[in-house]
Amino acid sequence: MFASTTTVGFMGTDTLISALWIAGIAVAAYMLVMWIALVLWVYRDIESRSVDQFTRTALTAMVAVFNIPGLILYLALRPSEPLVESYNRQLEMEAFMHEMRREDVCSGCQRSVDASFVACPYCRATLQSPCAKCSRSLQQFWAICPYCSAERQGAAASPATRPAAASTLPEPRLSPTPVFAQGRDVRTPVTTAS
Ligand SMILES: [Zn+2]
Ligand SMILES: [Zn+2]
Repeated sequence: MFASTTTVGFMGTDTLISALWIAGIAVAAYMLVMWIALVLWVYRDIESRSVDQFTRTALTAMVAVFNIPGLILYLALRPSEPLVESYNRQLEMEAFMHEMRREDVCSGCQRSVDASFVACPYCRATLQSPCAKCSRSLQQFWAICPYCSAERQGAAASPATRPAAASTLPEPRLSPTPVFAQGRDVRTPVTTAS
């Protein structure tokens, strides 16, 4: 009776200790995996936001040491905008500025002209002509009127802008043969009239 209870008690303690060991190892392994995942996520995240190696290392180390409080601090300190987004925004801005500048250059002689000029004072090239439908002033190389969307038959294709514009616009009439369209459109009505 006594021996049997001792045996049962001993076995019970042994099982409990084993269970605690297994549970402890499982919890430790889980926390280790979570910690590695956290540090890897932070490293990837800061890699997409900063090119500075010191910033990357310092912020990753901070999260590795302080874990969850470090992560909260990291989320507060990290650069708000990923590099790809900031790069894209910069490209858009540059393209916009380039477009603005290009409109102030004569398509015939490349000299700078005022945006309100209807003809180039240097080479006599027509810079703007009225829309046939709404009569508003339109740039020579615009394919349609942006105010009333009327098609422009006599619009001269700009050598600098036409290929790029044709590739981005989903307009099947212009995209396959931009050079042909340019050659056909330039001065055909004038030649026929005179
Ligand atoms: Zn000119
Ligand atoms: Zn119009």
